[in-house]
Amino acid sequence: MVVAQRTLGPLPPVERVRPGLWSIPVPIPNNPLRYVLVYAFDTDRGPYLVDAGWTTDEAFACLESGMAQAGFEIGDVQGVLVTHIHPDHYGLAGRVREVSGAWVALHPADAALIHDRYEAPEELLQRVGTILRRFGAPEAEVESLQNASMPALPFVSTIQPDVLFEDGDHPEVPGWDLTAIWTPGHSPGHLCFWEAGGRLMLSGDHVLPRITPNIPFHPQAGADPLGDFLRSLAKVGAYDADEVLPAHEHRFVGLDVRVAELIAHHEQRFAEVLSAIDDGVTTAWDIASRMHWSRPWDRIEGFMRRAAVGEAVSHLIALERRGLIREVMGQPSRWERVDQR
Ligand SMILES: [Zn+2]
Ligand SMILES: [Zn+2]
Repeated sequence: MVVAQRTLGPLPPVERVRPGLWSIPVPIPNNPLRYVLVYAFDTDRGPYLVDAGWTTDEAFACLESGMAQAGFEIGDVQGVLVTHIHPDHYGLAGRVREVSGAWVALHPADAALIHDRYEAPEELLQRVGTILRRFGAPEAEVESLQNASMPALPFVSTIQPDVLFEDGDHPEVPGWDLTAIWTPGHSPGHLCFWEAGGRLMLSGDHVLPRITPNIPFHPQAGADPLGDFLRSLAKVGAYDADEVLPAHEHRFVGLDVRVAELIAHHEQRFAEVLSAIDDGVTTAWDIASRMHWSRPWDRIEGFMRRAAVGEAVSHLIALERRGLIREVMGQPSRWERVDQR
């Protein structure tokens, strides 16, 4: 049984990626991404999952039925390797653990964010508001943007991971040759998983075939998220993968080509940011409104708008680290060229 997403089109089918490795789409409610792809590794101990989905009854039913199509029972899951803490990947892991006793794994940098983000978010929301003001958000928008992530909270069952994977660790998944690759950027503790036997890169949200992952600066993002992301792209781009297994959209070949495209995309954005500054645009908010997005600025609202401003700031910070611009503190802060004469 595949549960169709009413307004946004049907899900892709459950597919066998390789002998013993399955791709299972799990719906994300009211989201243009439509689904997360959960990957299930067959072992003689039982299945192991990479990512889980959002915690809704529909998503759980869909994961359960998709696993049944692949010949698994959800109660037999041994481990859930979570690429990062966003609700569409980590949200359902707790419920899988509840029915199966599986361990749940994250990178420590993402595990450290759980409490402030999901269990007691009040202080974090205040810090988001402070940052929005610093970067020039109009006061009339600060409050709604500050709270724009709250609708996602019901879709996360907050659990602490049982296992932490550092860069280079080998997750214990019998019969498979997996290595965790720490790829901060989209999230500070984002992990990709390399399966050496099949030369497969499970790329989470780090490398997707058509869309570019959001790389926002925010209070939990780390000092230079876009710089981290670009270094993490170079890191996975060095792997000679036969196929890339991302968490959204679809599988693809050509990891090196896609990595080069993503790097080029951000270089274009850097040029846009610099030209806005050269035209006398000074706040991050106004620079964001001048950048090229997938839809006009006026139609980017709520969480999307906050994500866009966060991404503009990521570009500004990365350019500051390259020594090209600087932030002049104030309320709001203003960005200017560093005199290079
Ligand atoms: Zn994500
Ligand atoms: Zn995602």
